[in-house]
Amino acid sequence: MAISTTNPATGQVLKTYDPMSDEQIDGAIERADLAFRQLQGTTIAQRGEWLTAAADLLDAERDETARMMTTEMGKTYAAAKAEVTKCATACRFYAENAEKMLADEPADAGAVKAKRAFVRYQPIGPVLAVMPWNFPLWQVMRFAAPALMAGNTGLLKHASNVPQTALYLEDLFRRAGFPEGAFSTLLVGSEAVEKVLSDPRVRAATLTGSEGAGRSIAQIAGRELKKTVLELGGSDPFVVMPSADLDRAAEVATTARCQNNGQSCIAAKRFIVHTDVFDAFAEKFAANMSALRVGDPMDEQTDVGPLASKRGRDDIHAQVQDAVDKGATVLCGGEKPAGEGWYYPPTVVTDLRPEMRMWSEEVFGPVAGLYRASSYEEAIEIANGTSFGLGSNAWTTDPAEQERFATDLDAGNVFINGMTTSYPELPFGGVKNSGYGRELSATGMREFCNTKTVWMGEGAPSGGAGAHAE
Ligand code: NAP
Repeated sequence: MAISTTNPATGQVLKTYDPMSDEQIDGAIERADLAFRQLQGTTIAQRGEWLTAAADLLDAERDETARMMTTEMGKTYAAAKAEVTKCATACRFYAENAEKMLADEPADAGAVKAKRAFVRYQPIGPVLAVMPWNFPLWQVMRFAAPALMAGNTGLLKHASNVPQTALYLEDLFRRAGFPEGAFSTLLVGSEAVEKVLSDPRVRAATLTGSEGAGRSIAQIAGRELKKTVLELGGSDPFVVMPSADLDRAAEVATTARCQNNGQSCIAAKRFIVHTDVFDAFAEKFAANMSALRVGDPMDEQTDVGPLASKRGRDDIHAQVQDAVDKGATVLCGGEKPAGEGWYYPPTVVTDLRPEMRMWSEEVFGPVAGLYRASSYEEAIEIANGTSFGLGSNAWTTDPAEQERFATDLDAGNVFINGMTTSYPELPFGGVKNSGYGRELSATGMREFCNTKTVWMGEGAPSGGAGAHAE
């Protein structure tokens, strides 16, 4: 895949880049390794100052950074600005909380026959980050901020269609004060990943992307015995029960499906509605979806911009066509527009059956599948009847039902009466084919730490944790 910026609103290629040579890749790995050693001589407070400086730069440069992202992958300008601000918030969160998250944890010394025992969290080294284009800044930041605070270094292999955002990230951390090599962008295609991950200086990898890419990286990492975190696709259920506030549920369903032009791993994709409220919900939902304004992503009035690539648009249209050919009903949308730009209308499809692609595949665009369930049990069966398990939503005002959904939905998160989203304070990740490991919160930061047990016998001062300032 060529490394280039192509504006999805026009289809025009704006900038192309030559992939880095083997020597250049080797140089970047070497600098990441040296910077890792350099970071071991810095304090958490120092790294926090650098990360806070990165947050300040993000805030100051919000509008031009957002414009760059919109031009590279088509998200609306308003959404892009919000993404930049979210990244700044996450940087500040980790700058302020890393000390606490990385502090030594005392253990019960008596129980393990020690004078002192505790757990110490230490960085492991350069980590390869393979990232997708859909939230080109945020996906990277939620790895980079905690990793750098912990004292690791990062090598970014970003998606080939967002090279300008990838280069901006390297520049951002350098200008914020991090040492040369602490965070580097590798302008390479996916075929270079094996070479980088096989290098003994690279200690681990994180990938956010498709199931296929996840399997490929996991195979290489398995052979090399390297730790991975995989954040893969999803086909999140959004269950609506009879007691739900239907107006609110239909409003949030529309945003949850069409945020980021429908290209979010945690977008609600399958809407499973109890038969008692199915018709009322379907009518409200289709009306809301039809009312969204599709158009130029730079226009502040636009709700849904173009898809990021022609292939992406063709893929979702093929999924809709497949369902229609096999008997599904389109409640709104479903027509591929003519003209320039890779636009697709918000679409609702119902009467879905297991033999249709939409039943089992992730639909990465503004297309909702609407399913009817006759009971709580059937709703759970449909919701969990997928190979994915990333996010999930349930809408009910019945407290007992809320508790049941929290337990029964087989996913990395459950949001009741609200839209699935990510917060730096909460762990984020999936189960089943949505991947493994977690990002964000202290859990995410510790994924790339050595959780070191320290046991001290006679001669050690008794009790408590170590005085680990670093
Ligand atoms: P993708 O095609 O898998 O690409 C993601 C990244 O992986 C890109 O940098 C890509 O490089 C690289 N890549 C692709 N195939 C590879 C391989 N065989 N070996 C090594 N690297 C490889 O995914 P995408 O189309 O950009 O993103 C959409 C997918 O990401 C969806 O499935 C979505 O649900 C998922 N996603 C998951 C999360 C989450 O947190 N769970 C968040 C966002 C997105 P090139 O661009 O050079 O091909």
